[in-house]
Amino acid sequence: MAEYVQQGLLAADLLCPHCQHKGLVNANLWQCKSCQKQYDFSIYCELCGDAVQRLTGCGSSEHYYCRTCKTPVSRKAVLYTMTEANNLS
Ligand SMILES: [Zn+2]
Ligand SMILES: [Zn+2]
Repeated sequence: MAEYVQQGLLAADLLCPHCQHKGLVNANLWQCKSCQKQYDFSIYCELCGDAVQRLTGCGSSEHYYCRTCKTPVSRKAVLYTMTEANNLS
């Protein structure tokens, strides 16, 4: 399955790998506003490559925590990996 990695963005700023348009985010599903393609996306630590945990509440919704590095990770230091969702309905 194809994977597409982007960095230094908000999830809402990810670009469609096919048409380079922005999309809508719904939990871990991303849908292109232009071509309607859907992608699952995951968020990884840039340093160690492990998945990071989203910190919620207190206005920190765009900060993450890496359990491996034991440190908070800013959104500019995470990698977004998009994979094509094949359960189109
Ligand atoms: Zn698209
Ligand atoms: Zn890490």
